[in-house]
Amino acid sequence: MATYVYFFGGGKAEGSSRMRELLGGKGCDLAEMTNLGIPVPPGFTITTEACIEYFKGEKRHPHGLWDEVVSNLRRLESAIKLSFGDPANPLLVSVRSGARVSMPGMMDTVLNLGLNDKSVVGLARRTKNDRFAWDCYRRFVMMFGNVVLGLERPAFERLLDETKARVGARTDPEVPAEALMELVGRYKTLVMEKTGEAFPQDPLEQLRLTIDAVFNSWNNQRALTYRKIHGIPHDWGTAVTVMAMVFGNLGESSGTGVAFTRDPGTGERHFFGEFLVNAQGEDVVAGVRTPEPITALRARAPKVYEELVAIKDRLERHYRDMQDIEFTVQEGTLYLLQTRSGKRTAKAAVRIAVEMLREGLIDKEMALLRLDPRRLHELLHPVLEPTDKARAIGKGHLLVKGLPAGPGAAVGRVVFSADRAVEWAKGGQKVILVRPETSPEDVAGMWASQGILTSRGGLTSHAALVVRGWGKCCIVGAGDLFVDEERRAFQAGRTIVREGDIISMDGNTGEVLFDTIKLMPPPISDELRVFLKWADETRTLGVRANADTPEDARKARENGGEGIGLVRTEHMFFQAERIPLVREMIMAADTKARQVALEKLLPFQREDFIGIFRAMDGLPVTVRLLDPPLHEFLPRYTDLLEEHTRLDALGINQARARELEEVMAKVRSLQEANPMLGHRGCRLGITFPEIYEMQVRAIMEAACAVTREGVKVEPEIMVPLTGTVGEMKLTHEMTRSVADAVLGDTGVKVNYLIGTMIEVPRAALVADRIAEDAEFFSFGTNDLTQMTFGYSRDDIGKFLPFYLDRGLLPADPFSVLDEEGVGELIRIGIERGRKTRPALKVGICGEHGGEPSSVEFCHRVGMTYVSCSPFMIPVARLAAAQAALGSKAEGNK
Ligand code: ADP
Ligand code: MG
Ligand code: MG
Repeated sequence: MATYVYFFGGGKAEGSSRMRELLGGKGCDLAEMTNLGIPVPPGFTITTEACIEYFKGEKRHPHGLWDEVVSNLRRLESAIKLSFGDPANPLLVSVRSGARVSMPGMMDTVLNLGLNDKSVVGLARRTKNDRFAWDCYRRFVMMFGNVVLGLERPAFERLLDETKARVGARTDPEVPAEALMELVGRYKTLVMEKTGEAFPQDPLEQLRLTIDAVFNSWNNQRALTYRKIHGIPHDWGTAVTVMAMVFGNLGESSGTGVAFTRDPGTGERHFFGEFLVNAQGEDVVAGVRTPEPITALRARAPKVYEELVAIKDRLERHYRDMQDIEFTVQEGTLYLLQTRSGKRTAKAAVRIAVEMLREGLIDKEMALLRLDPRRLHELLHPVLEPTDKARAIGKGHLLVKGLPAGPGAAVGRVVFSADRAVEWAKGGQKVILVRPETSPEDVAGMWASQGILTSRGGLTSHAALVVRGWGKCCIVGAGDLFVDEERRAFQAGRTIVREGDIISMDGNTGEVLFDTIKLMPPPISDELRVFLKWADETRTLGVRANADTPEDARKARENGGEGIGLVRTEHMFFQAERIPLVREMIMAADTKARQVALEKLLPFQREDFIGIFRAMDGLPVTVRLLDPPLHEFLPRYTDLLEEHTRLDALGINQARARELEEVMAKVRSLQEANPMLGHRGCRLGITFPEIYEMQVRAIMEAACAVTREGVKVEPEIMVPLTGTVGEMKLTHEMTRSVADAVLGDTGVKVNYLIGTMIEVPRAALVADRIAEDAEFFSFGTNDLTQMTFGYSRDDIGKFLPFYLDRGLLPADPFSVLDEEGVGELIRIGIERGRKTRPALKVGICGEHGGEPSSVEFCHRVGMTYVSCSPFMIPVARLAAAQAALGSKAEGNK
């Protein structure tokens, strides 16, 4: 029979940090700390397996579980020398949820369990502290009422607020014992009213019901939402830890806190945390009182502080990672209640990784594996443009300053409820969620928002904790801001901001402005540079950018791009001064007229390429010849018709009307049923060779011109949409003859390559023959995915959500490369291509080139490089390094 319960206490634990899957994060690390000799109250953990069995058995305990719970409870009693349910001196426990990965505040915990009408009196007598005993009881009835009996928390909170108002207490600790006693009576009446039953007095029954409720909290709405957002499997289940209570609410020499071994916002190496005197744990996280900084503990109790610092250093060395710890001080004695790898901003993650390596705590490989490449986005996320911000401040638009809890900037419309945030965001609005404080119910709304602003809570409050892992902009504890949820407005000083008004937030400083501030890309920090340099030393896969302009090219270079994998020439055609020339070319009645128009376009194209080649001096540049169907450059038929009808009706401007008729006729003739499968790519170049000839000439003349200036360039001319061997042959010949003619005329020596996109599935299959004329391949995975699945990228939205929900697709194949199908074509294409040309350069230039799991695939199949948007380059660099480390680990096995 499986063991369902693991004990910890008295310096020894049956579990350890290696049992994360079975004991959950909280349970396994409590066991680990116990084994390390760190002071932890004794207790036991019920496994995730028991939870899974519980759900399988339609919410019945698996056989033997309860017996194990009871026998471990007896062990706990003898470890701590107290009896559960003893009316004179009761053992109280907490019952805590804890999954494999941390889901902060999403599941439930009950404190002070074991109290009843008799033992509360015993507890008061033993501790000689009535206030304390009744404070524990009122907390217990509320938590049990909420978590186990399903009553709404606000109902309890209202009664507490009433009591506070009546006795004139500003904070919870000021409420005297008699008032608390009376409050418990009111709580119990509330329970009776709402459930029809009295508050359970039997501690064992309390325990059994609470264990079930914690199991069930695995499937509450907010836990489900959180798992969906983070891709956590629904069948992991939660462990349940039952442990002896220690009390931070025993008076001025007691308290509770949360701390990080390093600053989770910046990564700075200093002890960072918050402490609340005379309080229990949930008070800190719930943000009911704004806590003091951890240094306050040093002033109050230097010995305890020193001990805590020694423990946190030890934990960090032991886990070789920044830790997030919970602790409680009971009348001068310190207890640790939790440790885990702390959530941190991407900025902090990079700094911590770099510094821990320098401290010798971790090696380079560990450092590189510490950060999910996707999170690098946060570091590249826009910040408020400083001069525009200064302007707004100058105009007096600074509303308030809070605590900066999440990085970057946010600009959006104010909303006051999570539901509204979700609703408006769905409608395409950028929103900022403003709350007095957030609770786990708000998660979906927080996710939908650009930024989160709260008037209460500290840097370890719920909002700060959750958002830090997301890298969203967040400001908490903006105390000068008064939120009026009912009126849907907030007040800061004399300014009133209503729902729908636009504000700007600076997550790096905590400033909130009543203005729309411009955003700009952030500067790249020194640590990030170092970190990415390590990634470059580790990876074997090249990283290039897709860039259409010299500015893009410069950005690509700045971000570490090693070349351009795709220049889309058509993007240059859309610029205002060129579109008339492009239209003239399309409207041309014959080749001659078309050539005349193309001659006029040539200098523009040449200038574009000169700019890009200069920017990429010394690095390869792949230029793709014209790809989209020509109708994309003409006005929309309905717009033409509208103008024509108007002229006709007014009977004016006959000449213009004739012109319009001509264009309309052209648009009609270019109309296609499936333009994406129509007259485009090399099909255009083959039917109108003069177009490609002009482009090749422009590329080569530009290359010659910059070579004369001393710039190093090796253009790679790329043919789009090749599907047959003949297409490749013909286009190659044409390109070669034009290119060589230019070189002959100018007398400059430039090396160049002619290659092709592989984006028609057929091309992958005949890649060996295509490689006879193609000197490089670049997989165009947008079209390749489109044509392999037969899904139109523009229409997939109609069915994709259903497919994802029902598990018919694991992910959107246009963002995550479909390894099974599209990937197989890529494998075949590479293998056959290299049969003909062993040194064939192979890249990818679809959107997938910046998506980490797709980058890993590209590494595995032996591509030469990935090419992605300049903005995504750091992500691809890190993903490529991690892929290299992964295949090294494979090799070692
Ligand atoms: P969460 O996962 O939401 O943080 P926890 O199980 O960690 O929930 O508990 C909530 C709060 O109660 C924490 O601050 C924790 O430190 C505190 N707490 C839990 N168990 C005990 C205990 N045995 N004694 C004192 N405080 C406790
Ligand atoms: Mg906790
Ligand atoms: Mg394409």
